Amino acid sequence: MEYFDDTEFDYEGRMVDTEYTPEDTETELSLRPHSLDEYIGQEKNKEILKIYIEAVKLRGDCLDHVLLYGPPGLGKTTLSGIVANELGVNFRVTSGPAIEKQGDLAALLTNLSEGDVLFIDEIHRLSRNIEEILYPAMEDFKLDIIIGKGPAARSIHLPLPRFTLIGATTRAGQLTQPLRDRFGVLLKLELYTPSELAEIVTRSAGILGVPITEEGALEIASRSRGTPRIANRFLKRVRDYAQVMGDGEITLAVAQKALKMLDVDELGLDNTDRRMLETIIKFYDGGPVGLETLAATIGEEAITIEDVYEPYLMQIGFLSRTPRGRCATRLAYEHLGIPFRAAPAAGSQLSLDDAGN
Ligand code: ADP
Repeated sequence: MEYFDDTEFDYEGRMVDTEYTPEDTETELSLRPHSLDEYIGQEKNKEILKIYIEAVKLRGDCLDHVLLYGPPGLGKTTLSGIVANELGVNFRVTSGPAIEKQGDLAALLTNLSEGDVLFIDEIHRLSRNIEEILYPAMEDFKLDIIIGKGPAARSIHLPLPRFTLIGATTRAGQLTQPLRDRFGVLLKLELYTPSELAEIVTRSAGILGVPITEEGALEIASRSRGTPRIANRFLKRVRDYAQVMGDGEITLAVAQKALKMLDVDELGLDNTDRRMLETIIKFYDGGPVGLETLAATIGEEAITIEDVYEPYLMQIGFLSRTPRGRCATRLAYEHLGIPFRAAPAAGSQLSLDDAGN
């Protein structure tokens, strides 16, 4: 696998962060599954890919371009690497923000071999002038590029090897229509169930040589917000705890104590989730509150709330999205131990000052 990505990490140390953080390096490299059979969950997507891969191999053809979308940490990069592995081709990795100039993309494309998989993470962050190079490359396997400026400008046309572009994004809606139209296969990755995550934790524990009970694995899994990256990160932390405070085995009690120490509750919510829900309930009477207002109140980026916090809070039924904004549900009140009050009628939303908090 070759990495071209030089984007910098924005690491704030949140345990339930779904984004890649430097402390994931050890686990991400050693725990990444290499074949579709090792890749746990996402059954529908795996089945679709299996059929396409088989068909392509039978025909000696090149796989159609694939767009993978879903929240961070669900296995988009991993799945793309597996597709390359299963096809027996090279896997080249880059990301939208890392491709700054048309020349960067041209260099990547001209270095591909026949059938290779080019993976572009965060593909929604490609700039428009770079997307334009991508269109003929994806459609006709041609590079059309203008070099130089003014009278000295020359246009260059080069045939490219046939390749498969796999684009990953947290938000398919942010892709331009022409780019989206050029993907033949669109696959949505879903949050994992606790039992799928328990399987991932057990597999990872096996690779790391950590003894773990079934209940211990399920406990880590149920607090991992449907996200394998978080499950593997928790496993590492709980392993440390088990080694220092116990006999090294991860049991239910060890997992519970270790995760409590990390301020992750039994549903996987951390202080930021709880603060966000409490803000909606206490300042905005349970909602609806607009995303931007909520973001400003809790001091987070709106995009982070949408990509990182909301998918899980919605999956467990704590948050609902309405056209007028976000609302905390009865379940969220109950979890936080706040008596439930139904959302007020339209127009009676409290402002921060009115709330008297
Ligand atoms: P994304 O690209 O969606 O942000 P990654 O592919 O980097 O996510 O996955 C994060 C980590 O989670 C990987 O290192 C891998 O160890 C683990 N992982 C993801 N999906 C699976 C899966 N289906 N089975 C086992 N491990 C997985």
